[in-house]
Amino acid sequence: MYDVRTIAPSTTGTNSSVIDLRSDTVTRPSDAMREAMASAEVGDDVYGDDPTVHRLEDTAAQMLGKEAGLLVPSGTQSNLIALLTHCGRGEEYISGQTYHIAYYEAGGAAVLGGISPWHLPVGPRHEVTAEAVEHAIKADDIHHPVTRLVCLENTAYGHVQDQHVVERIAAVAREKGLSLHLDGARLMNASVKSGNKAADLAAPFDTVSLCLSKGLGAPVGSILCGSHAFINRARRNRKMVGGGMRQAGVLAAAGLYALENNIERLAEDHRRASELAAIFGAYEEMGVDESRLETNMLFLTPRPEIVADLKSHFQQSGIILSGKAPTMRLVTHLDIDDLSLEKIASVLAAYFDRAQR
Ligand SMILES: *Cc1c(COP(=O)(O)O)cnc(C)c1O
Repeated sequence: MYDVRTIAPSTTGTNSSVIDLRSDTVTRPSDAMREAMASAEVGDDVYGDDPTVHRLEDTAAQMLGKEAGLLVPSGTQSNLIALLTHCGRGEEYISGQTYHIAYYEAGGAAVLGGISPWHLPVGPRHEVTAEAVEHAIKADDIHHPVTRLVCLENTAYGHVQDQHVVERIAAVAREKGLSLHLDGARLMNASVKSGNKAADLAAPFDTVSLCLSKGLGAPVGSILCGSHAFINRARRNRKMVGGGMRQAGVLAAAGLYALENNIERLAEDHRRASELAAIFGAYEEMGVDESRLETNMLFLTPRPEIVADLKSHFQQSGIILSGKAPTMRLVTHLDIDDLSLEKIASVLAAYFDRAQR
């Protein structure tokens, strides 16, 4: 684990000397985003009085092709509220074994909602198939939970999901009367990469969750979108789980800034991830897996005996790498620029020079 105290703190990404490749969540709000936050018009959003929150919710809903939006503190809470709103106790949702909902949300839907999970194995691009979904939907039988919902993820581990497959899954689910939720934490990466509008990617789903605090560069926040009726019910669940926030316009202003300024530029993150693949791929020992690179995440599996040494070599130069052994994940984002790439390349070259001596 890296120790934050060894690294100088900084306010914005632009004056940070640290190159942090752990995640696209590490971005610091830019000066322009901070100005938007400082000058935000606010009110008490639990009373429905915050105009900036309303603007953000409406803007996001429109981008995602849904009627209404709901600002929530995190992507985890957004998915939880979606599940609580779609499903009742003893009902079941179907998702993929590696998905965030299944693996990284502490089982919240089961713990807090009594909602039964059914997690399907995923393919190499973290996809589930329409056949597997169909097979998992339970018959009407007193032995079974009542299947209510299918949850997909896009991007999943950086992979843009095949929209034809998504549509086939949606057709299967609809046929059986199920609803669909999309964990689109990084949906804008999928949109920019595929050239499809986010609203088109979200169209097969009743609800979609988008993170503002990842590649889009906001400090906090996710948006859950769906029909007016759904979002009204979700608003009560948000209050129940403690997600009602007061002068949240300060945060919403950052989210609006992110949606207005930081979507198109995700293409730069994707380009820089490809460049990182070339930089690390020049060394066979790095075990770069180009087949897993589609957006802003590069996975590599270095020879196990060098991992610890490699990480500490980079850390000494102010470059933070992460990922559990054996596979490391490098993520590009707003605070990684072309100069960062040059530095990474030279620090990597120095590592191998040193190793040869
Ligand atoms: C990060 C992430 C979330 C959760 O977002 P938090 O804001 O960290 O709670 C949900 N789903 C996916 C796919 C994510 O990558």
